[in-house]
Amino acid sequence: MPKVIDIMKYRKLALLCLFISIPISMINILIGSTWLAILGASLFVIFLAISLTLWKCPQCKRRLPLRFDHDTDVEDVYRCPYCETKFLSGKIID
Ligand SMILES: [Zn+2]
Repeated sequence: MPKVIDIMKYRKLALLCLFISIPISMINILIGSTWLAILGASLFVIFLAISLTLWKCPQCKRRLPLRFDHDTDVEDVYRCPYCETKFLSGKIID
């Protein structure tokens, strides 16, 4: 199995930033803190940066869709919608 960068790890990190950023921004609508606004925006920027730069298919190098699809996201195995390559963490599965 050819080794590729562990994009699932970056994907999880990106989603974590997104899931923290959303409630922070929601709470901040009520309390209006500048620091919380900066924190929420920073986490969202990290999410976008990781998703746009590292969330790519290791085989065909096309950018993968940002949203989760339950047909292709089976546990930790992800299937590329363009070239049908399946990969799990840092490995390509035949
Ligand atoms: Zn692909």
